[in-house]
Amino acid sequence: MWGIVFFVDNSAHERVTVFDTTLRDGEQTPGVALRFEQKLEIARQLSDIGVHVIEAGFPASSKAEREMVTAIKKLGLEAKICGLARSVKADIDACLDCDVDMVHVFIPTSDIQRENTINKSREEVLAITADIIGYIREHSDQCIFSAMDATRTDWDYLIEVFRAAADAGATIINVPDTVGVISPSAMKMLIARINRDVDCPIDVHCHNDLGLAVANTIAAVEAGASQVQVTINGIGERAGNADLAQTVMILESMYRIKTGIRKERLVETSRLISRFTGIAIPPIQPVVGENVFSHESGIHSYGVMKCSETFEPGIMTPEMVGHRRRLTLGKHVGRHAVRQILADVHIVPTDPQIDVIVEKVKAVANKGKRVTDTDLYEIAESVMGIELNHKAFALEDIAIMTGNHVIPTASVRAKVKGTDHVFSATGNGPVDAALKAILGTAPSRIQLKEFNIQAISGGSDAICHVTIAVEDDHGKIFDASGSGDDIVLASVEAMVNAVNLVDRA
Ligand code: MN
Repeated sequence: MWGIVFFVDNSAHERVTVFDTTLRDGEQTPGVALRFEQKLEIARQLSDIGVHVIEAGFPASSKAEREMVTAIKKLGLEAKICGLARSVKADIDACLDCDVDMVHVFIPTSDIQRENTINKSREEVLAITADIIGYIREHSDQCIFSAMDATRTDWDYLIEVFRAAADAGATIINVPDTVGVISPSAMKMLIARINRDVDCPIDVHCHNDLGLAVANTIAAVEAGASQVQVTINGIGERAGNADLAQTVMILESMYRIKTGIRKERLVETSRLISRFTGIAIPPIQPVVGENVFSHESGIHSYGVMKCSETFEPGIMTPEMVGHRRRLTLGKHVGRHAVRQILADVHIVPTDPQIDVIVEKVKAVANKGKRVTDTDLYEIAESVMGIELNHKAFALEDIAIMTGNHVIPTASVRAKVKGTDHVFSATGNGPVDAALKAILGTAPSRIQLKEFNIQAISGGSDAICHVTIAVEDDHGKIFDASGSGDDIVLASVEAMVNAVNLVDRA
């Protein structure tokens, strides 16, 4: 290793447990409303990837929420199911009615939140804390206690509250940085003090208002916290919460702390949540963003081709997190990357030809267009003056039917290596049906991995640009695109390009 300092005493922290609150704090993201089946699928996914505790919801908030939490509990998942409650008996009862494994009870402890929400004195909050935890423990053997706005609470008083909670039977105490205002070094001091003065395991819940949620979470673990509260993609109220993928990768790869999370499923999980919430993942999002293992500039691509660690962290590889490494084509592209991408499909230009191809790729990119592999092959063909491949797959006809009372259906007639093939498929919508029909006639087995659609201008007559990624039988990924003013036909064009790319490789 290269002299990275590991601050954590590994022997004391073999393991940090992961508490995911995507379904509770995450669902409180403004504009996000998840459907019943989506929440069940998210819960299954979270448990499958090794999350220890799933905060499934806030049962007292509505009847629908109680049905939701009950249904998640009934899935019988490996993860423990937790419900959130204010420090009132009716909220606790609502949690118990859902048969949760664990009640997460909270009370505001900072002066500002005490006075502006529940209007109770410090002494009253102490008494309520002891009382409500006693009540929970009469009915449940697990209770997590949160001192809301802990980081803005007078620290001496905070210790008193946590001691009262521990004495009353809280099984773990949570330290929320509710409005995201602490610094990592202050967090470390606070957790160290609680660790010293209160005899109870410590959990943290950090918000990202100033971009420190993950750093503060890590600082808390350095000082002795044994559980982290996170969400997928960092979604949550305001600027969101600490992101699960980043927190887990830092703990595992930098600190060598086991979390039990199946890291190779992080990208897949991130995409699932993005799809369901409609919150796109920025390409530069750490760990899971599309660009994390993409290289465009000439020097970087060349270095990465020789040894991936040249311009990547090394302690985190695409394989570890279920991502992929890509050399992308753009205005910074260099000859080595172009040569490599072409070599993958057995196109070998001469040195002078490579120079012309690179110039042409840069010219296209400089117009602000994304350059796909298909574009590159076409450029190479024209520069080299050869027809490299008679396209194995030629679409002859496609007919698509959709409407409010019909199942979307598509029929395709295509020439595959000179022979006529016909196939029909149904789908969730016209695009789904069309793509399935094409795949049904495709010469090789292909799986659609990614599908993105972009409207280039506003209005219902907008030009749309469809980019897709497909995977062949050997796990190799191919990108292709299509554009036009018909969303279905642009998708069809992208898939036809993809089919021919796979066949050429
Ligand atoms: Mn929160």
